[in-house]
Amino acid sequence: MSVSLTGLKVFVRTFGCQMNENDSEHIAGILLGAGAARAEGPEDADIVVVNTCAVRQKSEEKLYSYLGRLSQMKKKRRFLLGVAGCVAQVRRADLVGKRPDIDFVAGPDSYLDLPEIVGRAAESPVIRTEFGRDWKEIGAASTVRQSAWSAFVPVMEGCDNFCAYCIVPFSRGREKFRPLPSVVEEVRAAKSAVEIQLLGQNVNSYRDPGSGTGFAGLLEAVAAVPGVEWLRFITSHPKSFGDDIIRAMAAHPKVCPALHLPLQSGSSRVLERMNRGYTREEYLALVGRLRRSLPELLLMTDIIVGFPGETEEDFEATCGLLREVGFAGIFSFRYSPRPLTAAAAGPDDVPLEVKRRRLIALQALQRSIQAGIYRSFVGRDLRVLGTGPSPKGAGRFSGRTAGNLVVNFDAPADPAGRFVTVRITGSGPYSLHGSALENGDVSVFRGEN
Ligand code: SF4
Repeated sequence: MSVSLTGLKVFVRTFGCQMNENDSEHIAGILLGAGAARAEGPEDADIVVVNTCAVRQKSEEKLYSYLGRLSQMKKKRRFLLGVAGCVAQVRRADLVGKRPDIDFVAGPDSYLDLPEIVGRAAESPVIRTEFGRDWKEIGAASTVRQSAWSAFVPVMEGCDNFCAYCIVPFSRGREKFRPLPSVVEEVRAAKSAVEIQLLGQNVNSYRDPGSGTGFAGLLEAVAAVPGVEWLRFITSHPKSFGDDIIRAMAAHPKVCPALHLPLQSGSSRVLERMNRGYTREEYLALVGRLRRSLPELLLMTDIIVGFPGETEEDFEATCGLLREVGFAGIFSFRYSPRPLTAAAAGPDDVPLEVKRRRLIALQALQRSIQAGIYRSFVGRDLRVLGTGPSPKGAGRFSGRTAGNLVVNFDAPADPAGRFVTVRITGSGPYSLHGSALENGDVSVFRGEN
């Protein structure tokens, strides 16, 4: 069913991770491709799509509060309200039907059908949440990028790992891989992007459905695309991080020395209960192999505190591992049971105040570790990709290093989307400070090369 949305304005609001940001770029691209125009906000939109994240209870709570505000708006003015993404997938029955303000629910595998879904939703509520086993190609033509110089490029979707706390295998389905030629084509098509970020829930398990080429081969193919300056990827799973990937990272200077390597817990006992598939010792051995091959590598990680059964000793093991590895950043969370997961079937037995105390202690420890890492860059000249004006004040700008550290710096003009060399003169636990060098490396958009 071909539906024209000409004359309608669409607004997409995103909750969650980079995968969701990229999905929102697709949702906007598909709806604009059907004739819709962009709205500045929900106030002037005919169609509002809320793209959701179900990974943590807190993000779901934020979503419901936002939906409440939209619901109030709908009492005064008619527009179509849709929920997309992970919450749409796992809470579909609680959304359409129980909430008359919601007109459609679209799971992650149904975005290509959105014009038709919107068309039908004008008549009666629609739920579309089926999963297919094959990759659904959306492509560059149906992607409205948020940034001209940095492009998200999905390479796989879903997960087969079933970690005990994680909703993703239920909200995103089982793993499916994008054909390697499509990935390379999208990278080529993103002509102005100097930075490419390959996305997937578990990129290390990538296999090209045609040739069987693994993630190391994919990295090599993307790094070979002319004009790509920085190449990043997220998310990696420690249990499937092969040495071939390490070799590919070391062989290609375009692959940034920054890696998100989720740990979750530093206790082998907890890791086993989480069904993570590696021990503390195996994680540390992988970090050792990575650092021997990539001496400049900066590591980021995810930590959950208060997983069921976590003792003080388990928690101390996590703190000890943080000290031993020296992560440049962590995302840390209190455990919250998610529907459908294995852990949710058992007791959530670590008291809330204990979870809170552990999270505060963990974050304080990390802050001190991180401050030392950031301090070690003072005095160096770093290549920085500008991202625009700094929230820190007029005349200052922000950017990121290859290692993904935030830098706030003085520069004569806005360097957004361009590389500048910044002399680092100071640091804090979350950012570096400095000044752009006048005759430093200033490169241009890929399309101008
Ligand atoms: S690897 Fe585990 S934590 Fe990551 S998406 Fe899959 S199930 Fe979730």
